[in-house]
Amino acid sequence: MSEKIFGYAGQILRIDLSKKKILKEPLRKDFIKKYIGCTGYAAAILWYELKPKIDPLSPNNKIIFSTGPLTGTFCPCSGSYEICFKSPLTNAFGESRSGGIFGPKMKYAGFDHIIIEGKSDKPVYIWINNGEVEIKDAQHLYGKTVHETTEIILEEIKEPKASVACIGPAGEKLVRFAAVMNDRDRAAGRCGGGAVMGSKNLKAIAINGEKDIEIANPEKFYEFVTEAKNALLKKTALRRFGTINAITVLNAMGALPTKYGYTGFFERAEDVSSERLLSKYLIKRRACFACPIGCGRYSEVKHGIWATPPHEGPEFETTDMLGPWINISNLEAIIKANYLCNNYGLDTISTGNVIAFAIECYEKGWIKEDLVKGIKLEWNNPETMIELIKLIAKREGIGDLLAEGVMRAAEKIGYGAPELALHTKGLEMPAHDPRGETRILAIKYAVEYRGGCHVHSGFPGLYDRSPESLNDYGLKEFGLPWPPKGKFIEEGKGIAYRFFAIFGQIPEIMGMCQFASMGSEGNMITIKDYAKIYSSLTGIEMDEYELMKIGERVYNLKRCFNVREGFNRKDDKLPKRMYEPIATGPVKGECVKNLDLMLNEFYESMGWDIKTGIPTFEKLKELGLEDVAEELRKNSIF
Ligand code: SF4
Repeated sequence: MSEKIFGYAGQILRIDLSKKKILKEPLRKDFIKKYIGCTGYAAAILWYELKPKIDPLSPNNKIIFSTGPLTGTFCPCSGSYEICFKSPLTNAFGESRSGGIFGPKMKYAGFDHIIIEGKSDKPVYIWINNGEVEIKDAQHLYGKTVHETTEIILEEIKEPKASVACIGPAGEKLVRFAAVMNDRDRAAGRCGGGAVMGSKNLKAIAINGEKDIEIANPEKFYEFVTEAKNALLKKTALRRFGTINAITVLNAMGALPTKYGYTGFFERAEDVSSERLLSKYLIKRRACFACPIGCGRYSEVKHGIWATPPHEGPEFETTDMLGPWINISNLEAIIKANYLCNNYGLDTISTGNVIAFAIECYEKGWIKEDLVKGIKLEWNNPETMIELIKLIAKREGIGDLLAEGVMRAAEKIGYGAPELALHTKGLEMPAHDPRGETRILAIKYAVEYRGGCHVHSGFPGLYDRSPESLNDYGLKEFGLPWPPKGKFIEEGKGIAYRFFAIFGQIPEIMGMCQFASMGSEGNMITIKDYAKIYSSLTGIEMDEYELMKIGERVYNLKRCFNVREGFNRKDDKLPKRMYEPIATGPVKGECVKNLDLMLNEFYESMGWDIKTGIPTFEKLKELGLEDVAEELRKNSIF
């Protein structure tokens, strides 16, 4: 590798909030070679720097804001950054992506990663301007919403072009699924990064910069990213209707999670559809930095009790989780709920999950009146939803219990609640049901390192969920079983998921949005495209096979982080409801049947021990992770 690092900013900013110490460190070339960047690089930092079994909400945890080499370039969909930390929801590896402009601003300010460690003795925010760093008092921001915080900080620093990532009241109150919000309405929502920031008394990071990103071969890079842009422009449905289009698509399949997974068919789906949003509430589309798709929505409710100012959303996950998931079809209330969650800094997926869970527990008599204190815990009650969002954000009344996340709340409630709770490893399940959509999601939810997640590492749902639209994600020639046998055939799904698990790491380590990497050749960025784009950007020659190897290495490293924390096969499981038949709709009666079969296939194809689900010593050695294997041996894992 040449001395110059093209494509990267070349520096890491490390801030110890306990000692108020600010350090700038050079990017490690050996880490770039092994892990590329973004969550791959951050996973390595957390592996080497975090002691196992620490409390995620203690000063011992670190939260890393990370970009990849493509972040902030004119490669389409390159506006991403990710936060990585030990998750207070799962005690496992936590990561969460967001778009907007914060990631590119990090690169332009001169930093690929910002590592935050320790804990400030009082609330502070960090202002980074073109490489200059200040830790500023934030006591006056305590209790302020995300929008208020953003406006006040932009006014104080007198730099309207800056980007602000901050927490709302939910993060301050250590709600375990609090989000980090940037550019007002963009969310790094999952896994509780907002609570980790809150535990460090860090209210916000504001950032601006004008430095260039140097490109090794600008002509080639321009040629390749133009090809990529033309491919992504074919995603017309996502561009026109946004992710919320999935409401009617999934409902027609009978796979729209409704009433806490009781069914996959919502009779009033039209009321919460993208057409309804478009006809009455949509102001315009919104795109992240350099994105030709623009899947974001920008909407408002002008009048009435659900009135909101203009803001971003609602996206598909939010609409289902705060709508059909709670049996609600009042789109105005859903828009209001989205606005409140954004402003309080709450993950909308986890919020919708815990609210529906509480309603079902109450219905079953497991939550008592003295805890409910007069709130009508019932389905299809928008007022209750709004009230619970406020209580959760402030940790008041029953909100204090629900703020712990569905797994911990269930343990406290007792009775049958732990079996009912829809999560894996403690992360609340989102708005895709493996029973009705495609069984590849079942193995994915079970094994994912961050828990019940549909999108990290990669969303494999388009592989086989409809016979008219099969997608190989450009992975056929790497061995992806093709053609798929059928969405409800479980045999082979564990083998197929291996390819998605590994490929899904590539957008993550490059600093890209996952939507760019779904589909088939011609309408997505394939692994071959990534190899060409990365090589021309950095001057580091890399072919698609080497890139897949790095993806596999990073996936294994994240798995090893969890293994060191005590996770193994026993934790790769699904909630009981996934084995119960869908109650109504076009795929009535469908359920997961044989997760063990898919687990065995997945572990075997990954080169992991089938009994334990742990990567073998030999596999780690083959991936260049000998020292990781040795560390696990020292911890008596092998
Ligand atoms: S596809 Fe959507 S989420 Fe992805 S970069 Fe574009 S606007 Fe952002």
